[in-house]
Amino acid sequence: DLLLEARGIGKSFLGIAALDGVDFTLGRGEIHALLGENGAGKSTLIKILTGVYTRDQGAMRLDGTDVAPASVADAQSLGIGTVYQEVNLLENLTVAENLFLGRQPRRFGVINRAEMRRRSIALLARYGLNIDVDALLSSYSVAIRQIIAIARAVDLSGKVLVLDEPTASLDAHEVDMLFDVLRRLRQDGLGIIIITHFLNQVYAVADRVTVLRNGRLVGTRELADLPRLELISMMLGRELQHITG
Ligand code: ADP
Ligand code: MG
Ligand code: MG
Repeated sequence: DLLLEARGIGKSFLGIAALDGVDFTLGRGEIHALLGENGAGKSTLIKILTGVYTRDQGAMRLDGTDVAPASVADAQSLGIGTVYQEVNLLENLTVAENLFLGRQPRRFGVINRAEMRRRSIALLARYGLNIDVDALLSSYSVAIRQIIAIARAVDLSGKVLVLDEPTASLDAHEVDMLFDVLRRLRQDGLGIIIITHFLNQVYAVADRVTVLRNGRLVGTRELADLPRLELISMMLGRELQHITG
């Protein structure tokens, strides 16, 4: 049951191909890791999927409909939300204000401040967060702020969530907390794309992996059937005996 389908995606910068004929699919209720060495094209691919860049070649379907996100806001309204490494929330606003920033959440309609507060509490409860929504965002840890950003992105978009290196500044306990949130969203049928350099994390949370190398697709595999050394050799483009000596 495919949620997102990208075929033959190509993108060049100044005549140099960053992506060349890349296919990528994401299922409903799937956590999909995107892997590859530095410069492989991971960020370029997710920037195309999330409307930061437009593609030069290829096609993209979301829920069976051809789409070409022209901006981040456009991708968001189509159902594709993203949370970047540097969470783009406002430190000096409260949690509730951040959740309602620049919009009336689509499910909520026009509401007053008390209602905004009540609904923020309800929204965060779905993520296992029981926090003071009137406190400034800056009073919370990076991990909590990230979950708030995810809650906001999912509320705005609702189909696909894209996370580029979300665990970079989290400790082990916080990574567990984040992954619990992702599993909960998976259960709700969301498709999640995650970039992380930590293979332990890939195996801990992801269902499937797509590997890129030098702007091309190496392959896509279910992680349950993929030995770790084989994944590493896919990423490096070398046979295992050359890695292990
Ligand atoms: P990854 O995220 O896997 O490290 P990127 O998608 O960031 O890879 O980069 C893929 C290639 O595209 C690299 O060679 C990079 O230098 C190039 N590239 C990415 N973005 C730009 C850009 N905005 N301008 C020029 N070159 C870019
Ligand atoms: Mg890079
Ligand atoms: Mg990158």
